[in-house]
Amino acid sequence: MTNLRAVKGMNDVLPAEIGRWHRVEEAFARTMTLYGYREVRTPLVEPTPLFVRTVGETTDIVEKEMYSFEHRGEALTLRPEGTAGAARAYVEHNVHGVEPVTKWWYRGAMFRAERPQRGRYRQFYQLGAEHLGDPGPGADAEMIDMLVSFLGAIGVRDARVLVNSLGSGESRAAYRAALAAYLEGKRGALSEDSQRRLSTNPLRILDSKDPRDQEAVRGAPGLHEHLTDADREHFRLLRAHLDELGTPYTVDERLVRGLDYYTRTLFEMKGATDKLGAGDTLLGGGRYDTMVRDLGGPDVPAIGFAAGLERLVIASDVEVRASATDAYVAPLGAAGVGVALVLGRDLRRQGVRAEVDARGSSLKAQLRRANALGARIALILGDEELAAGAVQLKDLDARTQETLPREQAVRVVADRLRGGRVEST
Ligand code: ATP
Ligand code: MG
Repeated sequence: MTNLRAVKGMNDVLPAEIGRWHRVEEAFARTMTLYGYREVRTPLVEPTPLFVRTVGETTDIVEKEMYSFEHRGEALTLRPEGTAGAARAYVEHNVHGVEPVTKWWYRGAMFRAERPQRGRYRQFYQLGAEHLGDPGPGADAEMIDMLVSFLGAIGVRDARVLVNSLGSGESRAAYRAALAAYLEGKRGALSEDSQRRLSTNPLRILDSKDPRDQEAVRGAPGLHEHLTDADREHFRLLRAHLDELGTPYTVDERLVRGLDYYTRTLFEMKGATDKLGAGDTLLGGGRYDTMVRDLGGPDVPAIGFAAGLERLVIASDVEVRASATDAYVAPLGAAGVGVALVLGRDLRRQGVRAEVDARGSSLKAQLRRANALGARIALILGDEELAAGAVQLKDLDARTQETLPREQAVRVVADRLRGGRVEST
């Protein structure tokens, strides 16, 4: 057989790393519960037109990053992001008909055929949420503040918060024309991609990572002068609420994001640049007030965000002490294995994490393994103990040992662990 390897840009997460993932995921789930969000799970595969219509035909994602295929005559795509599927589910299940405000969170794999680098993969995980039915700006400020708290909870305390307003469709159309006119004069200085974008989607040029484009947009007109009065007021109130919450932020008039569905509020949080380098955008989000209607639903405003889980894990970078078991049951020969299996099961019935070593290896090898797994107690079953109906209890932390009647072993171990350290993976 040839050497089979994981698909490029798609990673294994081995148990040695999973403790750090759990820490981030648990902090996120806790935050979501505190703010009244409930978990939603939508399919990994959606009809391709869902993404073309919401994310936008002329975005990088739709133009070149989707894993799309045809199956039995249906055009399908591995989801590149979570909002479109959530909005589809919201419309499909007429959630608007049962509640005026909906708060959903999700976590799951996303797929984009990008060039892999640190913090950028082809299968990656996002933590995200959608808040539907509230036009903001209070909801917007609360979401941004919530995310700053969440980042703090996982140890990212230096996050930079960028906010912008893209305005409603009306503001955007006016700005689009002004920007296109300005960049038309610089056509020759733009990257090939951006020359094409001039006619398809000039706003995307602001988000280009090509240095030529970044240079060309430096003097471009800002969006804010094109905002309608209502858009301007929305953005003013968002900033006022953030000030009231004491959430630090910077207004970045050139902030646009890689998806076309955004309206009004847009935000991004960067952090842990020392660990992530240029790919230090931890999360991004914004308002998408027209998506639900565009998908055939009612006129329901909404705001959401998505965070890159791998980037959060790298950014939070906290050593998690991984202990895989508490009690290690070590029979010193085939004769003790049956007793060891019973002991192990009885310990687990009392809620004690227990590992039975039935390999038939030496005491030394078994104790080495017990230490490697982070066990606090070893229960040794040698010939003498077996004959006497006893067990030898070795406290690996306190470095003590004693011999106990076997029927007392479970209670003694459980008591000792309760009084001692509590471990989780
Ligand atoms: P970027 O500018 O970094 O490409 P984006 O604008 O494509 O990000 P979104 O689509 O809004 O980002 O996704 C939200 C978050 O998901 C990003 O801030 C990032 O943390 C993460 N993310 C996006 N693409 C990837 C990827 N290919 N691999 C890992 N994480 C990703
Ligand atoms: Mg991207």
